[in-house]
Amino acid sequence: MTFDRYGQLKPRGNHRWLQDREGDFPRICPFSPSAKNEDELAERHFPVARIRNDMLGRFEAAFVGHADEGEFRANGSSGGMVTWVAAELLRLGLVDGVAHVTANDPTGSDDRLFRYTISRSSDALSAGAKSRYHPVEMSEIFDTIRHVPGRYAIIGIPCFIKAVRLSCLADPILNERIAFTLGLFCGHMKSARMAESFAWQMGQDIHDVERLDYRMKCPERPANWYRAQLTLRNGDTRSRDWWDLADGDWGAGFFQNAACNFCDDVVAETADIAFGDAWREPYSADGRGTNVLVVRSPELLEIIRGGMEFKRIELSAVDAPFVISTQAAGFRQRRQGLAFRLTWPRWRLRPRKRVIAARRGLRARRMMIYAMRYAISLWSHRVFWLARLLRWPGLYLVWARSMLTCYHSLAYSRGALGRMLDRLGASGAEGHD
Ligand SMILES: Cc1cc2nc3c(=O)[nH]c(=O)nc-3n(C[C@H](O)[C@H](O)[C@H](O)COP(=O)(O)OP(=O)(O)OC[C@H]3O[C@@H](n4cnc5c(N)ncnc54)[C@H](O)[C@@H]3O)c2cc1C
Ligand code: SF4
Repeated sequence: MTFDRYGQLKPRGNHRWLQDREGDFPRICPFSPSAKNEDELAERHFPVARIRNDMLGRFEAAFVGHADEGEFRANGSSGGMVTWVAAELLRLGLVDGVAHVTANDPTGSDDRLFRYTISRSSDALSAGAKSRYHPVEMSEIFDTIRHVPGRYAIIGIPCFIKAVRLSCLADPILNERIAFTLGLFCGHMKSARMAESFAWQMGQDIHDVERLDYRMKCPERPANWYRAQLTLRNGDTRSRDWWDLADGDWGAGFFQNAACNFCDDVVAETADIAFGDAWREPYSADGRGTNVLVVRSPELLEIIRGGMEFKRIELSAVDAPFVISTQAAGFRQRRQGLAFRLTWPRWRLRPRKRVIAARRGLRARRMMIYAMRYAISLWSHRVFWLARLLRWPGLYLVWARSMLTCYHSLAYSRGALGRMLDRLGASGAEGHD
């Protein structure tokens, strides 16, 4: 996997290998039409799951809450439950290592900001807590798992966990050694240019950035007021709220990977357990962070129940509609929005999705929101590329701010255009359909 000119990771190989429909690649690539889909994989791994739901897949139980013991919650992006469960797997001796995404020191020959690594202690795991909305790849950790015997857990976003499941089907060593998969809910993935753009807007060059925290924890503010912080090579820090940044509205889709337009798994349906943020009140107002969890593996459910019993974690059981409501925007974009995008003509490979192409009953304004999001994703890569080439950040920033204004009027009825759309009776703004 190598970075392309837009800061996205792409598989690299000769034309024959990439086009070969019979080889390993089409069987293990999570986007391949010939690979097993999420339903088929979930049926294989959770054949007797207690609950089956169209949006959440198969699962045993769901919870909302946070880690209570130690610093898991304070160190985590949300309620710290991902690191707590991973640390518990290590503590109980159920795994020897946990593969997850940690900060890389970009000062050496490897200038990546983040990479997958394997942590073998609770301290190392905690040092790697936090969400990284940044492209990474798994080839190094697969090599390690193949060469170093032991049992492993892997943390990943839904398409990565699907890739792990497909790789295990193709490789008996991975299958034997990967004992647990911990999924993260996913809205979409950003390109590496998002970090560069944040640096530009904080008056810095990305090459002077040593560390990036996409979500600084500010317990005194609502959890959904994201604040990004850069730590520079000279030790100084710079931080800004995402809302102040030209491309900081997550829902507008700046720098989104094109594959995410054709993804229908929000909650890591093939993972043994999946974690997200509880994006609904009163939880989203609590800056300390709160998780939602979907537990699919009976073994992990026992570990969760044990933690609850001894008050090491503070969780309450919730039902499927509760979990779905915490990800309302994500499900709209990847169910209704995906159905609409699938009606568009496509000349290249046609993705095989569980969602059926449909636009019937969709209001004009909703179609415009989906189309605008798609256009913002597509053009943000290209305009940033040009601005970078010309060393002219203003070119990208003026474009991004104009796009954001149009998007906000369409999606949230902001500004004169938004008010006009409302007066014309154009319903379908975000959250009002
Ligand atoms: C690209 C992306 C999009 C997301 N979109 C949503 C969303 O739409 N809705 C939602 O509710 N939640 C989303 N999440 C999940 C959310 O950001 C939190 O990660 C989750 O709630 C867990 O929080 P925590 O405090 O329990 O985790 P922590 O205790 O902070 O631990 C997080 C763990 O995940 C690992 N990790 C971080 N980034 C990655 C990555 N890219 N790939 C693999 N492992 C990683 C870390 O190394 C760490 O071990 C997204 C996460 C990512 C990476
Ligand atoms: S939206 Fe889907 S395809 Fe995109 S990064 Fe998330 S899981 Fe992968």
